[in-house]
Amino acid sequence: MAVTDTIFQHGTLGLLVPGLFDGTITAGELLQHGDTGIGTLNGLDGEVIIVDGHAYQARQDGQIREIAADETLPFASVHFEKPDVSDQLTALNQADFEQQVISDYRLTNVFAAIRIDGTFKHIKTRVAPRQEQPYKTLVAATAEQPEFTGADVEGTIVGYYAPHLFQGATVGGFHLHFLSKDHQLGGHLLDFEIAKATLKVQHFADFHVHLPIDNEAYLREQFDNEVIDKAINKAER
Ligand SMILES: [Zn+2]
Repeated sequence: MAVTDTIFQHGTLGLLVPGLFDGTITAGELLQHGDTGIGTLNGLDGEVIIVDGHAYQARQDGQIREIAADETLPFASVHFEKPDVSDQLTALNQADFEQQVISDYRLTNVFAAIRIDGTFKHIKTRVAPRQEQPYKTLVAATAEQPEFTGADVEGTIVGYYAPHLFQGATVGGFHLHFLSKDHQLGGHLLDFEIAKATLKVQHFADFHVHLPIDNEAYLREQFDNEVIDKAINKAER
């Protein structure tokens, strides 16, 4: 199997839960493993959206900018885009979309990349606010987050579906980010309604996890699965 048929993930979603927000991979290195994906920046500074080989940061003030190669991330997932399914969607809300896609493309127990390009009747995102050391937990850090909305927005949703078995290593279920075409709206997707869009799905048999084994805080942390599960449900949904 070619390396392009793998999701490459740096870090785990679980390491964000106790507040391990220091960046441990550069954006430049990350982009060698994929041209499409999602993540967050050093200090939990906003939401990262990677499309067509360019990494963007949606910031808590609503601004969106391209990330430089030497900036670092504590957590990110990327892949090389090569969708195996494409479909046209019209007038579909998030709940119906998720149900339909899981069923049509048999996602329940597989890793998949999701990309939706088109026009959205409604988009709602949130952006994690930048944290300073000493870091709070993920739940505390994301208790108050700016939310952004748009109506009749053109843009791109990118992200992943992961089997629920992998909750903790990543987000079990859907984890989607958004970037508008005009770069005026972006972030972690809370809600959306498709007006007219093209869906691309890419199934993966391989999920590659790359851990920050040179990071002292990571080596020392005693992870608690139950706490992680609760925190992910609270902070990432
Ligand atoms: Zn997210």
